[in-house]
Amino acid sequence: MNLEIVRAKDLKLKPKDETKLGFGRIFTDHMFSMQYKTGKGWYDAKIRPYENFSLSPACMVLHYSQTIFEGLKAYDTDAGINLFRPWDNFKRLNVSGKRMCIPEIDEKFALECLIELLGIEKDWVPKTEGTSLYIRPTIIATDPFLGVKEGDEYLFFIILTPVGAYYASGLEPVNIYVEDEYVRSVIGGTGFTKTGGNYAASLAAGKYAHDKGFSQVLWLDGVEKKYVEEVGSMNIFFKIRGELLTPPLMGSILPGITRDSVIKLSRDMFGVNVREERISIADIFEENASGGLEEVFGTGTAAVVSPVGGMTWEDKSIKVSGGKMGDLTAKLYDTLTGIQYGKIKDPFGWIKTL
Ligand SMILES: *Cc1c(COP(=O)(O)O)cnc(C)c1O
Repeated sequence: MNLEIVRAKDLKLKPKDETKLGFGRIFTDHMFSMQYKTGKGWYDAKIRPYENFSLSPACMVLHYSQTIFEGLKAYDTDAGINLFRPWDNFKRLNVSGKRMCIPEIDEKFALECLIELLGIEKDWVPKTEGTSLYIRPTIIATDPFLGVKEGDEYLFFIILTPVGAYYASGLEPVNIYVEDEYVRSVIGGTGFTKTGGNYAASLAAGKYAHDKGFSQVLWLDGVEKKYVEEVGSMNIFFKIRGELLTPPLMGSILPGITRDSVIKLSRDMFGVNVREERISIADIFEENASGGLEEVFGTGTAAVVSPVGGMTWEDKSIKVSGGKMGDLTAKLYDTLTGIQYGKIKDPFGWIKTL
């Protein structure tokens, strides 16, 4: 397919103070878009000025949430701009798409278009330590139709936003609230997809936890509310008696690319045994009581690795690693970010330098 490029006439001023970027409020000069129609396939691939869309109020995605998205980052390094496993994001977009009846995209072409877009927007990649350019590929159903069915028309777009260092004031361990009323997903549902509805459904629990002073929700399985699933929009790891444990990919949790990278780093670089097994929240609290629970952390593109300093479940609260960041958590954070920012050699073939 051909990629048409339409340049913006006026360029925006780039943010002066990169320590105040925050997350997801500033967008670059250009975006990518491509359309789909049943019978025609994907067409009209374009890099064009960033602008509002014109959509019918009957547009299907606005009513029934047929949408999928991805999230990845571009990092400024001495050798150029680094992407971290970007092919895995487009692969996962298609996995989400299959579940949501959204037509498959050509992953290789999508990555080529992203690389082209980044070439045009390279001055938007912030340079201050810990900052990056966050990339948001999204697909929505656009048919103006109120019947409940899968769409015949879709819009795929990629927008870019410079984001600040996630840990502006250092890697502070967070307190998490074990959610025992609401559930995020069940096996057979959409928990393994990045689809808008999953996040809309999680807001009430997140708000409740925030109002109580917690920074994240730890989700339990949707059937028994017994087994740990994931935390906020991160996967979760427990270090127990020298081993790492994380819930297996059974369909209810998001298969994080950071999760997979942490598993490979732990096994291949640090010689740590990693078990992908169901873990009950009761066992975690018991391991803590008997001194076996050493570290807890979440993993995801935004935070990379986020140490957990405390957990509250029903009427019980525990402190983890004395409320401090654990050694393995710190090592994983330093190594992963080191690879992403080109400071540490990448032995896994994860980095694409532009
Ligand atoms: C995106 C996401 C993750 C983390 O995935 P990464 O590929 O590591 O960024 C974990 N859980 C949920 C619910 C997510 O949306």
